[in-house]
Amino acid sequence: AAAFVLGLHQMNSPATARGGNKRSAAGMTVAVVATFIWLFVREGSDLLNNPMPIVIIVAGFIVGGGVGWVMARRVAMTAMPQLVSLFNAVGGGGAALVAIDDYIRETSRGNMEVSTAIFVVLGAVFGAVTFSGSLIASGKLQGVVSGQPIFFPGSRLVTVLLALITVAGFLLLVLSAANVVALSPEIEMLTLGVIVLAGLLFGVTMTLPIGGADMPVVISLLNSFTGTAAAMAGFVIGNPVLIIAGALVGASGAILTKLMADAMNRSIMNIMVGGFGGGAAEGAAGAGGPGGDVRTIGLDDAAIQLAYAQKVIVVPGYGLAVAQAQHAVRELAELLEERGVEVSYAIHPVAGRMPGHMNVLLAEANVPYPQLKEMDEINPEFSRTDVALVVGANDVTNPAARSNPQSPIYGMPILDVDNARSIIVMKRSMRPGYAGIDNELYLNPKTGMLFADAKDGLMELVAAVKQV
Ligand code: NDP
Repeated sequence: AAAFVLGLHQMNSPATARGGNKRSAAGMTVAVVATFIWLFVREGSDLLNNPMPIVIIVAGFIVGGGVGWVMARRVAMTAMPQLVSLFNAVGGGGAALVAIDDYIRETSRGNMEVSTAIFVVLGAVFGAVTFSGSLIASGKLQGVVSGQPIFFPGSRLVTVLLALITVAGFLLLVLSAANVVALSPEIEMLTLGVIVLAGLLFGVTMTLPIGGADMPVVISLLNSFTGTAAAMAGFVIGNPVLIIAGALVGASGAILTKLMADAMNRSIMNIMVGGFGGGAAEGAAGAGGPGGDVRTIGLDDAAIQLAYAQKVIVVPGYGLAVAQAQHAVRELAELLEERGVEVSYAIHPVAGRMPGHMNVLLAEANVPYPQLKEMDEINPEFSRTDVALVVGANDVTNPAARSNPQSPIYGMPILDVDNARSIIVMKRSMRPGYAGIDNELYLNPKTGMLFADAKDGLMELVAAVKQV
């Protein structure tokens, strides 16, 4: 437990996050080994006579751990949210199965206590919702299911009905455990089955209407549910480590969800009601870009501006991540610093496709942490900046968030790139970003568009700066 708490604390800063991850993993290893030792101490002779349970556990460990290891190593950084979502599904499904198994056992013994009934049913419900909801969310992000909000006639009513069925079933089982109502074990099992089924369907109908940029917020919420389900499973089987780890995941997932929603200026309720993301289709339809003329800028001009600047702020975004241009951008920054230019990086909280995406990416390229500036810290700096170099970022720089109440991103805090004396935007075309809307920044007379793939463009820029 101490390793989990300290590990989480270390994740506060990119400089210590990797260590925090290792420390938490070490804590989990200790917990798993201790649980095994405890199992042998408690049931050693039984296990020697019937080793099947151990064989199953070890086989599950090898298969599940092996698949997880390979997937985590292979996944592209930009596909991380859907992998996290898949892991949430597995965690939620696992917790639901533990709860169902315990319910069957306690019911057959005929001594279900009220507290057990509460935790078991909550564990089964949270687990079932997380399982199906996370599978749909992962499918949406991977493009297996349409990323647009999906509604069917009466879908909201169905969602509310499913929630009511779940709550009613929950109350029925708790009242039965308290001997207020008399249910036969068969009816109890049937009720639990209905609850789990309603939870599974609820997960689907809850996630389908959510689309576009809201998906990662939902994944974070489902992550919080996984933790809650695991904590419930911990209560059910009396395992303190599971309770603590589950509670930590539940709480930190809930905080992260709130932070992400705030960074996009949306309420969690507004996100859950769904429907957002439809704008992506409209924006994509008009993929020609914002009406009006844009000014393009050549490599040599861009290189001269950068090389003779006193202060440059790099604004990285999703495109930098896709192009894997983090090493190229660091090389350019180092080159400029050698020429006496002051370089820093503006990190928007939802740049890229997952929280901390830019921190992780730039840390991987060994960009010094002090150069990474959070939005609140860097925004006042733009007006004192000669060149803002925007690489593959779009929505997080869109001034419409400040000025256009009709814009879907209105109210979202953005990087005040337009306050810089000169702006260079490197991207491949005039296509919009994740929110699917045009960016007025590109029409700003101070903006020069440098159309290129982020990696190739930055490498060419490095070569051009060397010639200046
Ligand atoms: P955007 O998605 O707004 O824009 C990325 C831009 O990168 C595109 O316009 C694209 O233009 C460009 N691009 C794509 N590939 C390349 C490439 N190979 N080389 C150069 N450019 C490329 O990214 P931002 O980071 O600005 O914003 C993130 C968005 O994701 C926000 O809308 C945010 O709300 C959302 N989001 C982020 C979350 C997070 O946790 N980080 C969570 C939830 C949502 P082109 O095709 O013309 O090259």
